[in-house]
Amino acid sequence: MNTTLKPKIRRKRLSEELTVQLRKYIIEEGLKPGDSLLTEDEMVKRFGVSHTVVREATKALDFLGIIDAAPRRGMILDKFDFERVSEYFGFHFALCDYPREKLLGSRAVIEVGSLPYTMEAMKKNPDIYKRLRDLAEAVSPEWDHVDNDFTKYDIAFHRGIVEASGLTPLVSICDLLQAFFRKFRSEVANNVQAASKSHGAIVEALHQGNLDSAIDQLRAHLSHYTIHEVPQEPMQNPKES
Ligand SMILES: [Zn+2]
Repeated sequence: MNTTLKPKIRRKRLSEELTVQLRKYIIEEGLKPGDSLLTEDEMVKRFGVSHTVVREATKALDFLGIIDAAPRRGMILDKFDFERVSEYFGFHFALCDYPREKLLGSRAVIEVGSLPYTMEAMKKNPDIYKRLRDLAEAVSPEWDHVDNDFTKYDIAFHRGIVEASGLTPLVSICDLLQAFFRKFRSEVANNVQAASKSHGAIVEALHQGNLDSAIDQLRAHLSHYTIHEVPQEPMQNPKES
């Protein structure tokens, strides 16, 4: 087998191409967070690029939190920090006009999909029931409008449900999706009471081991966002504006 130690990089964006090669290298070498990466000189030799290209590529990977390029220690493979990544993605997504049904569909898949796991976890650990009940009760049925507090507790409740599943990557995706929903929050204005009620009902259904009922409650709860849809301006084509 012909193993080329110096893959030729000819594309225009050399640094981008180098990041691809570096990711490949990391996977092929089976590097784990905390492991050292090639030094700058080694990268120059191995990939046949200039020091400037290496610095550009490693700076980008450092920014994304994939590597930690400390001047003295050299380059180290970093622990993946989803929070950091989602901060930027979330910001971008929030600016985009994604069709609401797609966002809601995605959110429903994630939240409903986590319920069986959350229910199982609840059976094993009684603290989870207490924690979720507290989160559900934090949204006061007396509030008659959506404010920052409601939003904060509503997000915390939904995150709590997914988090209790123990499926950590799902929690990160859930956080990412929350950025979209900031836009729709004010439209659940008449539903604070309903929201508070169904939060409680979801937790009780899970506690009783009634998965079907928990799923129905959650789906109905999420549908508030569509029921109260206000007529929107026709979607603008970004190219025309
Ligand atoms: Zn809610």
